[in-house]
Amino acid sequence: MRSCTEEILQTVCGELGLKRFRAAQLFHWVQQKAVRSWDEIANVGKGDLKLISSRLSFHPPELLKERRSVDGTRKYLFRLHDGEMIECVLMDYAREQSRDRHTVCVSTQVGCAVGCAFCATGMEGFRRNLTSGEIVGQVLDITYFIRREDPDFQVTNIVFMGMGEPLLNYEEVLGAIKLMNQEKGLNIGMRRMTISTSGVVPQILQLAQENPQVGLAVSLHAANDRARSDLVPMNRRYSLAQLMEACREYSRITRRRVTFEVALTDDNANQTEAEDFVRLLKGQLGHVNLIPVNPVTGTGMKRPDLEKLKTFARVLEAGGISVSVREERGTDIEAACGQLRRQWREGNHEPISSI
Ligand code: SF4
Repeated sequence: MRSCTEEILQTVCGELGLKRFRAAQLFHWVQQKAVRSWDEIANVGKGDLKLISSRLSFHPPELLKERRSVDGTRKYLFRLHDGEMIECVLMDYAREQSRDRHTVCVSTQVGCAVGCAFCATGMEGFRRNLTSGEIVGQVLDITYFIRREDPDFQVTNIVFMGMGEPLLNYEEVLGAIKLMNQEKGLNIGMRRMTISTSGVVPQILQLAQENPQVGLAVSLHAANDRARSDLVPMNRRYSLAQLMEACREYSRITRRRVTFEVALTDDNANQTEAEDFVRLLKGQLGHVNLIPVNPVTGTGMKRPDLEKLKTFARVLEAGGISVSVREERGTDIEAACGQLRRQWREGNHEPISSI
C-alpha cells in the first residue's frame, strides 16, 4: 500500500469498480496523514476498504525500540513483516530565522553487501533490498509516532545514509524519492533529499542523466586506491580514478556540487592524508564533510581529537577545498547505522523507549 502512487491507486480503484476520487483519499491518508492501519482511514466506507484490502496489503512494521539522545536525536529499530530489522534516525535542528529542520536518515536495504571496515551494518552482510514503500514507511512511521506528541510535526529533509547502499537498490530508492516529493504526500522538496553512496559508478552516471535534483554525497574516506580499498571495498570494483571521473561528469551534467564524506580516525587524521585529499579533489566542484568516526565495537578504530580534526580541515582549506566538520549527533545512543540492530540480535532487548 505504501509503495502505491496515486496513479496506481486509481488503476486499482477502477478495477474494483470504485469511484476515482477514492484513490486521492487513500493516497492522502497513507502518504500525508501517515496512518498505520485501515481502521484509521475515516472518510472511506468499510465496504470499500474491505475491497481495497483484498488487493493491497498494509503491513506497517513493528516498533521494537526507540532511543533518544541528549541532543534530541532519536533512533528507531523496526521489525518488518518478514521479521527483518531496519534502523532509521531522526535529527532535529532548531532554527531561529527559518522553520525547524527535521531530517530523517533512512535505510535502503536490510544489511549491506559493501562491507565498509568501519560499519556495523557491513559486518553483518546483505539480506535483501527494501521496497519503495518500506523506505517511505520509515519516514511515515516516524511522522506518525512524533505526531502523537506534536500534531503539526513534518519531516523536512531526507538523507539516504542508513543501512544499505542506495545505488544498489536504484529503482526502489528513486520510487521512494518520487513518492516523498508528492505534494499530496509528504511534500519534501527534491533538493532536500540526499543520496549517499560508496561509489557505484554506473548508477552515479544514471542518476546524473535522470537528474532528479537530489543531492549526491560520496563516501570517499581515503585519497589513494590501496587505503580506500581496505576501508570501502566498492573501490575494488570502481577505482578512485573512475569514481572521480563519474563525479566530474555528475557535476557537469547537473551543475551541482558533490559532497565528499571523509571519516577520520585517530590514524588517518594527519597532514600527509590531508595533502593527498587536496591533490585528489583539486578542481572538482565539491565540498568535503569531515566525520569523526563513531566508536563501533569490533572495528578497533579510535575517534581523533578535536585538534587533529581542525588541523586536517585547515590543510584542506589552504589547498582551496571547501570543507566543514559534520556536527555530531546521537553518539550516546549508537546512532551510527547498524549498531542498534546488532545489539538487539545480541539479546539486548531494552524497553521501547529508553531516554
Ligand atoms: S557504510 Fe554504507 S555502504 Fe558501507 S557497509 Fe555500511 S551501509 Fe554499506
